[in-house]
Amino acid sequence: MKQGMAEKFQLHEIRPGIFQLELPTPYPIGPVYVYLIKKDPITLIDVGVNSPESLTALRKQLQHLGVKINQIERLLITHGHSDHYGAAQTLKEEGAKAVVIHPRDWDKVTDRRDYYLRMKPYLAQMGMPSDYLEYFVKFIVWETPYARDLEEVQNLRDGELLFWEDLKLEVMHTPGHSPGHVVLLCSKEKWAITGDFIFTHITPDPIIDITPSGYRTPSMPLHMESLKRFAARGITTFFPGHRERKGRTEAALKEMKKRMKHKRESYLEILAKGPLTPFQLMRRLYPTSRKGEAFVLLSEVIGRLDLLEIDEAVISWRKAGLIFYGLKEGKI
Ligand SMILES: [Zn+2]
Ligand SMILES: [Zn+2]
Repeated sequence: MKQGMAEKFQLHEIRPGIFQLELPTPYPIGPVYVYLIKKDPITLIDVGVNSPESLTALRKQLQHLGVKINQIERLLITHGHSDHYGAAQTLKEEGAKAVVIHPRDWDKVTDRRDYYLRMKPYLAQMGMPSDYLEYFVKFIVWETPYARDLEEVQNLRDGELLFWEDLKLEVMHTPGHSPGHVVLLCSKEKWAITGDFIFTHITPDPIIDITPSGYRTPSMPLHMESLKRFAARGITTFFPGHRERKGRTEAALKEMKKRMKHKRESYLEILAKGPLTPFQLMRRLYPTSRKGEAFVLLSEVIGRLDLLEIDEAVISWRKAGLIFYGLKEGKI
């Protein structure tokens, strides 16, 4: 019987006392990996969405490991996206002691609706038509049950050291994919738990972020900067939040560079034909994309345009309430 259960759950002990749990999400990315550190203080890194399916999967796996929710001292959230923090408030109400997250993502996890809605005027300036904007609002409503707002969050600082009896992890702030994203480094053994910061085969797209004061965070340039700082830390193995259970830093960075170069060329090729709004550019790049994909794809486009603007390959300007991008020589 015990044997059967172990097979069913296929618990992955990535390091002694550290378990990689797999939880379902309603998103196209598929399941999310969260990490249980079964050492004192018991810590869960990311928690999955707030759906009955995910909570049941989490409870079963914790039970199998002999951990009760009220024994969890700390829910450590890598970043404020629903697949990583969505169930935290529910787990807190069931007895988990504290939720820690970098302050730059507090606004999202305490008022998700406001965070998304303040993007709306900005998306309109980027050329997103009204039927797409309506769809975006529908998405916010659809997602609501999967991500409960947190009532109380505690600070997680860059450079902070977290200690267990035989383990020390360093919090590294890696803004980009999300402005408050953090990864956890074990410098001694050269591995890290990395949330949505780095993957081998997918580009972790920096999502559009408007601060409560209305400033647009340059997500992609920040992400590139974070990758550089991460690469300098000599971490060889990472345990991400999705898809691959384990990745190699060197291979992932190499793949990413290849993808970036390829995309840069296609962006410049399209803009050579004339200036476009980011939304128009997104439709040229992804003509068959669906409405539900528009926000993530637009995030990618804006991120790459930011990089091209820093490189002085493109410039942007406003005209009739819209933002246009064109090759540096092609301004109208
Ligand atoms: Zn994310
Ligand atoms: Zn994720």
